[in-house]
Formats: sequence, C-alpha cells, structure tokens
Amino acid sequence: MDYRNLFIDGVLCDVIVDNGRVKDVRTIAESEWHTRLEQHETMYAAFPGLCNMHTHSAMTLLRSAGSGLPLQQWLTESIFPREATLTAEMIHNGALDACKEMRHSGTTAFNDMYFSIESTVKAALQTGMSANIALSVTDADFADKRLVHRFLETAARLQDDIKGHGISLSIAPHSIYAVSGQHLKYIADFAAEQNMLFHVHLSETQKEREDCLRNEGLPPVLYLERLGVLQKTAGRFIGAHALWLDDKEIETLGKYRATVVHCPNSNLKLGSGCRFLYTELRDAGVNVTLGTDGCASSDNLDMIEAMKVMSLLQKGTRCNPSVLPADEVMQVASANGRRALGLPENNITAGNIADFFLVDINNQYFKGIDILTSTAAQRHIEFLNRLIYAANASIVSETITQ
Ligand SMILES: [Zn+2]
Repeated sequence: MDYRNLFIDGVLCDVIVDNGRVKDVRTIAESEWHTRLEQHETMYAAFPGLCNMHTHSAMTLLRSAGSGLPLQQWLTESIFPREATLTAEMIHNGALDACKEMRHSGTTAFNDMYFSIESTVKAALQTGMSANIALSVTDADFADKRLVHRFLETAARLQDDIKGHGISLSIAPHSIYAVSGQHLKYIADFAAEQNMLFHVHLSETQKEREDCLRNEGLPPVLYLERLGVLQKTAGRFIGAHALWLDDKEIETLGKYRATVVHCPNSNLKLGSGCRFLYTELRDAGVNVTLGTDGCASSDNLDMIEAMKVMSLLQKGTRCNPSVLPADEVMQVASANGRRALGLPENNITAGNIADFFLVDINNQYFKGIDILTSTAAQRHIEFLNRLIYAANASIVSETITQ
C-alpha cells in the first residue's frame, strides 16, 4: 500500500506499507511540493498510533451510567448490578464498538480489564487492535478454586489466534479494596511465573488511601510493597489512576520501574480529584501513560481529548503553561504506553510495524499553517498543537495498523 504526501515529523514523505510493516519512507524534495499542491493532492499529518492504557472496553454498553455518583456508590449501585447481567455475546458487541471507536480516533493499542477475555480478544482481532486483555477479578471470583486453571485453559485456546497480532493476556486484580492481600500476592506470584502484566486500579480516590492507612497502617503503594507485589511484578506493574500518592510512594513506584496510567476525564467526572503528579512521577523514573477508563466514567474512548485534558490540567494546576507540551503528551499517549505493554516502537520509519494515523491537513483546525515557509520542526510542533489543543477525534482520516 502506497501512502502519498504524509508529513512525518514535519517532513513530507511517501510511505510504502507492505504486510503490516513500513517498507520504505521516501522524502519528497520541496521543489516537488509545489507541483503536488498545484495538482490539489491531499496532504496529511501522520502521527504514531495512540495507546489507551486503561479501558474496560465493553463498558460502551454502560455509557454514562450513574452520572453524578461518587466512585464507591457509582460502582456498587450503578455499575456492578448492570455488569452482573452481561453475557459473553454482549461483552463482544460492547468491546467491538469500543475497538471501532478507538480506531476512529487514532488509537491502535489498549490495555483492558474486564470479564470474558475471549469476547474482547475476538473484537481486537476483528479490528486489528493490539492489546493486553486482562481478566478482571475480585475476591468473589476466588470462590472458584479453578479460577487460574480456567484462565490458563482459555489462554491456551486463544494462543494460535493471537500469535503475531500484538495481543497478550493477563489476570488483573480489580483493586486493593476489592481483592485481599492474600489474593493480591497470589496473582503477583502467578504474573511473575507467567511473565504477565499486573494491571490494577491504584489510589484512585482519597477514600481508598485513607481506608488503606486505617486498615493496613500504610498508604496503598507501600502496602503493595509490604505484600511483595511490587517486587514480584517489577517492570510489569501497571497502576491505573495513581492520583493520591505521597513522595515516598512516588519514589517506591520509580524503584520498581512501575507504570502508572493517568485517566483525567474519568477522575474529573467521578470527582476523584485533579492532583495527578505528572512531573514528580516522571522525574522519579515512573513510566507515565494515559488512558480514558471505561465509557461509564469517561463517556468516550477519545485519546485526543484525554491528551488535551491531561496537558491542560498540568498547566492549570501548576500555573505554568510550559509544563507537559504537545510533543511530550504525545510521547505519554503513545510510546510510553506501548513500552509498558511490550509492543514494538511505532515511529514511522522503514522496518517498523505500520501503526499510525492520518489527519487531512485541509481540515478547519489545521488551517493557517504555512507549510511552505516554516521549518520541519515548526510544522511538526504546530501539527501536534492543533491536533491536541484544537481538534477532536472526528478529524482522523484513517488509522493504519499491522
Ligand atoms: Zn477503571
């Protein structure tokens, strides 16, 4: 497949994709630009595929459910009772809608936590999405003594289907308040044995932190360290939200090369807070990534919107407009997430997998950028600024995956 007129890092190129890989990237001489512009050829800004690091994809079925309730009440009164009625077929339909919605907004990979992993795997395969798809468990699930055995049976059954598609599987304990210390340790041991990711909701609310301090005498991150969970899952631990942390917890997450996922829209909608300590986490060596969360709390799976909100929150809460600029938030929303999931790099260079999205630069939000007189670096930053701060998911022209 030949893609003409793609601005990659501000440089106009033609790209040849063959068998899911970028086969060749040819730079177009500026003298040729005029000819192509005179012939009204469409020109695109190309961006690496985004990685949504915290989803419950089938929650498209529960979009906007329980609006206005605080997290614990929202979970127990609005979400858990509805989820109890979902069948595998319904979960597949919900996950398929989610995967289509993500693709349409430039997302090519996601980190999911839900039930019926087979249903979500099927949806990811149908839409060409890469993913870590985790079986979400709470203490109640351990009543089934064959829980892990059943998971391994399912994983073995899916192995041939997912091979070579950038899909991995794991078990995700829901949170420290829904899973006991004993069960958290058990899943951490299992993840270490199987070399799997360990995805958990972490310090989402102030209440979670205060309850943990009262019950365990330690805040959530130090509680997980005392259990040995962080040690066993070093480099493979993914904490979703990580909103209420102190300095010692941030240092500890860095020590174990943990990944955290900021979900700004979900945190704001549920009133969980807006004190995500981006700079502190990054400087401590924590891999900071971005997610939307499920559609019941974020209402959509739009990573372009999430990038904007994350960046604005950092600038606004710190009264500093230079914090988390567009190129850095793009790094958080793509490369950092892919690294956490063990996916290959997706820069658009020869030999890499083809994993990017295109925006026709003739759209209203990109107008006024003088592509002929600006430098490549200026164009690159301007395209990113327009994408993140001005535009929305509807401007994505096409998403290419392997
Ligand atoms: Zn969540």
